[in-house]
Amino acid sequence: MKILVINTGSSSIKYELFDMDGQQRLAGGLVEKIGEKSGGLTHQKVLGNGEIRRHTEHGPVPDHGQGLKRVVELLSHSEHGVITNKDEIAAVGHRIVHGGETLTAPTVIDDQVIATIRELEPLAPLHNPGHLKGIEVARAVFPRAVHVAVFDTAFHQTIPPHAFMYALPVDLYKTHKVRRYGFHGTSHAYVAEQAARYLERRPEETNLITIHLGNGGSMAAVRGGKCVDTSMGMTPLAGLVMGTRCGDIDPAIVFYLGKRLGLGMDALDNLLNKESGLKGLCGANDMRELLAKRDSGDANACLALEIYAYRIKKYIGAYLAVLGRLDGIVFTAGIGENCAPVRSMACADLEGLGIAVDEEKNKAPGRGIRQISPDNTPVKVLVIPTNEELRIAQETQRVVETL
Ligand code: ADP
Repeated sequence: MKILVINTGSSSIKYELFDMDGQQRLAGGLVEKIGEKSGGLTHQKVLGNGEIRRHTEHGPVPDHGQGLKRVVELLSHSEHGVITNKDEIAAVGHRIVHGGETLTAPTVIDDQVIATIRELEPLAPLHNPGHLKGIEVARAVFPRAVHVAVFDTAFHQTIPPHAFMYALPVDLYKTHKVRRYGFHGTSHAYVAEQAARYLERRPEETNLITIHLGNGGSMAAVRGGKCVDTSMGMTPLAGLVMGTRCGDIDPAIVFYLGKRLGLGMDALDNLLNKESGLKGLCGANDMRELLAKRDSGDANACLALEIYAYRIKKYIGAYLAVLGRLDGIVFTAGIGENCAPVRSMACADLEGLGIAVDEEKNKAPGRGIRQISPDNTPVKVLVIPTNEELRIAQETQRVVETL
């Protein structure tokens, strides 16, 4: 079975085509700057020997429909393509950021599901409108395929009320849906499943803390395969320090800055989401850039790294208390998979809690799943590459097989 996974933004379409029989990625790419003057497309075809053949196009892409049509042409192109006919694609898995409280599992897309995703737009104004565009054009381009929505929020819907409610007037939850939702759920779910398999344990009997550190970052406490708490909140601004987002702060800072600096809502939103985090602390939102600054003796970069790792460590402690017993800690995504100093600092001095990192293993280069804790510590610290697209394809396949 071939499954196309698409992640549509307001001006972009990311796509990956999988052959589910061998769980193989066949092709993938990105259409960018849709509707702008200088659009473009990058396409990758995976060759038989695993090598990637790249193809790039420059030029305006007037709308999402034209963008997706071009993707289909490339997927069935004599040189760049991997299929002969678009009807080979049995299903399309759509990444949807927000499923709210009703869309809590991968779901076949029908008019009712579309209406619900639309109702949730106020909770995900930057994402859900683009996703809806993607659904509309993909249904037109692939009328015979099954379309499945896979939600970033779904994995976190097992979080109990005492962990998802805020201490605000309860009507704000009942009427306005103000609560913790959590994000990156597809990634947390994928690495939690992989970790249980690697540890040769049944997921139902495995307690994990999963740490997704990309440009955004979040952690999850996973008890027996189910999420019981996560660091992001009603929006992806809460929790860890991120590239440009502040994570947890005293909410009163917002009023203080509003009054003292005369900043309006939009300016404050921009400050906390786009100008804070690592960027605000040291001028570099990219971890590699931060490390280069630190290595050249930049004191702000040193401090930014300490603040970043300290926040992760605090959540490890909190989630250890939440779970009571811990089998593994998983680091994933760009920083989690590649940045040894962050892993080492976040787990430093936790031997008393059964957590340690073996520096040699931590620094050793590697691409697949690997253990970086000493063999004799009770909690296994793992690095697991995430693969959100493959997970969406797997979820989509599961739904198709039940039809
Ligand atoms: P996104 O959230 O956009 O998917 P990624 O998961 O790709 O982001 O993570 C991007 C982050 O990973 C950036 O801060 C980048 O600097 C960091 N990163 C990637 N490779 C390395 C590396 N070798 N060492 C340290 N940080 C890295």
